[in-house]
Amino acid sequence: MQGLLNELRRTHFSKNVDINLKDQEVLIMGWVHEIRDLGGIIFILIRDKDGMLQVTAPSKEVTPEVLEALRSFRKESVVAVKGKVQESGRAPNGVEIIPSEVTILNPANQPLPMDPTEKVRAEIDTRLDSRFMDLRKQNVSSIFKIKSQMLHTVRNFFYENDFTEINTPKLVASATEGGTELFPITYFEKEAFLGQSPQLYKQIMMSSGMDRVFEIAQIFRAEEHDTLRHLNEAISIDMEASFLDDVDVMKILEDMIHKVLEDISTKCSKELEILEHDLKVQKTPFPVVKYDDAVDIVNSRDVEMEWGEDLSRAAEKALGESMEGFYFLTDWPSEIKPFYVMPNKDNPINSHAFDLMYKDLEISSGATRIHQYDLLVEKISEKGLNPDAFGSYLKAFEYGMPPHAGWGVGADRLTMVLTGSNNIRETVLFPRDRHRLTP
Ligand code: ATP
Ligand code: MG
Repeated sequence: MQGLLNELRRTHFSKNVDINLKDQEVLIMGWVHEIRDLGGIIFILIRDKDGMLQVTAPSKEVTPEVLEALRSFRKESVVAVKGKVQESGRAPNGVEIIPSEVTILNPANQPLPMDPTEKVRAEIDTRLDSRFMDLRKQNVSSIFKIKSQMLHTVRNFFYENDFTEINTPKLVASATEGGTELFPITYFEKEAFLGQSPQLYKQIMMSSGMDRVFEIAQIFRAEEHDTLRHLNEAISIDMEASFLDDVDVMKILEDMIHKVLEDISTKCSKELEILEHDLKVQKTPFPVVKYDDAVDIVNSRDVEMEWGEDLSRAAEKALGESMEGFYFLTDWPSEIKPFYVMPNKDNPINSHAFDLMYKDLEISSGATRIHQYDLLVEKISEKGLNPDAFGSYLKAFEYGMPPHAGWGVGADRLTMVLTGSNNIRETVLFPRDRHRLTP
């Protein structure tokens, strides 16, 4: 049986064509990146997955058919080029291909919706409107190669630490935290919501005896405000572990971040170079700042913050200016943390909640959770929520719920740090924000 491409088969990726293949015949496939027709000689750059290769066609050395076909090439058309490898001082990889056979697999319409070769980035909206083409730029695709490696490292880290990967529903009956950041949907004759966090499910899983679970999945939040670090659909890396407390899971978190930094800096050095991003592998343990001290730091920097308030954007910035890299914020007031966070036994005004920050950016929130049914019901009511709405969650606490703790990391925010991006939209293939629902 013959497939669509018949005999036409790629023999090499551009990055694998080097001087060792001198005088050999190769067949490459990719996009026409650049065309320079100097009359007596035509230079064409073909771009594929990880690089580029120069096709050089001196009119005296190639057939008229090949010359004619090359002259019909248009930028970004998809082509196949067969030819002999020859040494070249100026071309990428130090080699060029003298073509003997060329095929246009699919021509690209002209003009193009955006210039995929530009060094200077266009407006983010223009780029996102034609994201498929934007991604043809190395400095854009590098972000997603780094994100992919990060997720790979994170998964490995969890598996190596005896966690079980779980999948929990994203169609839910009620709010996780009773917040307003919910997207209502029609679920047959009922109203339902898109899940804003796997929180309640991963806690229920602690009652299952599985002990250590993690999930990497979408969260949906109806964030009204358009910021550089919020999207309406984000990826959350969540974990929950039994018989551990906040201090234990903070250690797991910093070890994971450290492993990610190590892996990205070694395995993605080419991508970091393309992004001109100098990623530091920060040593553990990360600094710990208590909430009380954070309030003082913020005020000392002329940003007003009262004890008991959540960090405003200005407060995050003030704090970020006084800190380098990753650090924990601990001992949060119970008042501003969700109902499932364990209050401090001796001083219940404070809680066993923490955030992991990177300068002025919140990367993660976590805590020791309440595992006692009565206290949990009390806290739900205290937050002005109705315990009846949490029936199936609370049931898991009645028949043997172990003490447990966990956290959630924003995968897109972590990617911002890893790639040096200051807009979260850069780190998501097809971002969903206040104004964007396509592509
Ligand atoms: P913020 O205060 O920055 O809005 P949050 O405290 O509401 O965040 P959490 O509920 O603690 O967020 O969620 C855990 C993590 O998920 C956050 O630390 C962040 O990294 C990520 N995250 C939360 N909301 C968003 C969002 N809208 N877009 C992107 N990432 C998010
Ligand atoms: Mg938070």
